[in-house]
Amino acid sequence: MEVRLGSTLLRLMVGDITQQDTEAIVNAANSSLMGGGGVDGAIHRAGGPQILEECKQIVARQGSLPTGQAVITTGGKLKARYVIHTVGPIWSGGNRGEDELLHNAYYNSLSLAREKGIRSISFPSISTGAYRFPIERAATIALKTVRDFILENNFFTEVRFVLFREDDFKVYQRAWEKLSGGIEG
Ligand code: ADP
Repeated sequence: MEVRLGSTLLRLMVGDITQQDTEAIVNAANSSLMGGGGVDGAIHRAGGPQILEECKQIVARQGSLPTGQAVITTGGKLKARYVIHTVGPIWSGGNRGEDELLHNAYYNSLSLAREKGIRSISFPSISTGAYRFPIERAATIALKTVRDFILENNFFTEVRFVLFREDDFKVYQRAWEKLSGGIEG
């Protein structure tokens, strides 16, 4: 699914984020930045040890990464030149600021990309795996944050959501249709 928003192409697709050719891909990391399971593990495996080296240097400089914040490393062996690492919230019922923290994770990733002059970026579905954020709710926050940022900045050529499973893709597609009043898509 593709939608044009100003000069930006917003794309939702099923796929593996480690294979994307956007300038940057986003990693749903954890605060330690030391790798882990899920998409984090896949990115470190595909990108090689260079990424972890850079993550270690970042942690040595500024400590672990707070939830909602974002940092950048190179992409190692990936097609993407950069990896933006962000930490989504762990779901704990919805009354612990999870919505805003998830918004921050997307927003701060986009801000950092923009600051670095990166014009194309791929996102996974942050927090909806091991962190158990309900995916319908997460999809709406993700898409709204990205749409608003795209329209306000008119800077990116392409923003991609790379969903790992067909079912997740469908949830994002439906969330987009609701968000845009069922007109686009
Ligand atoms: P979190 O801890 O933020 O929940 P996870 O990695 O556990 O992160 O899950 C986030 C999402 O990433 C899940 O929907 C999972 O299916 C998806 N995912 C796992 N591997 C990949 C991959 N290679 N490319 C894209 N998405 C992936």
